[in-house]
Amino acid sequence: MPHELKPEDLGTYRESLLNLQARLRGDLDQMTDEALRRGQPDSSGNLSNVPLHMADVGTENYDQEFTLSLIENEQDTLGQIHEALGRIDAGTYGKCEECEEMIAKPRLQALPYTKHCIKCAREMESRG
Ligand SMILES: [Zn+2]
Repeated sequence: MPHELKPEDLGTYRESLLNLQARLRGDLDQMTDEALRRGQPDSSGNLSNVPLHMADVGTENYDQEFTLSLIENEQDTLGQIHEALGRIDAGTYGKCEECEEMIAKPRLQALPYTKHCIKCAREMESRG
């Protein structure tokens, strides 16, 4: 099995996953906080204190609904990270769930929680 991931590779991916998980959890706390505060207009919340990546997309357009959809996305990603960590423990990490080929390393490095190879991901995207 030439594409088998080495234990040290798995360690690296596990570390990336844990880092990402910690970062997302921090973000979520912050965003949930913001969303809740925005739901209470009388509070003394400071609106300029939004997470950085939200400032990037323009604080002008950002509203509570947008924040909530971001929270949903991040919760979804956290779920996928959790599953990926489970696959590392189960020894199935790095395999495409669809075609069972090994997922290319650059893809795993960019998206350590992905469970599909680029080919299947594209196919699923075009199927909708
Ligand atoms: Zn695949």
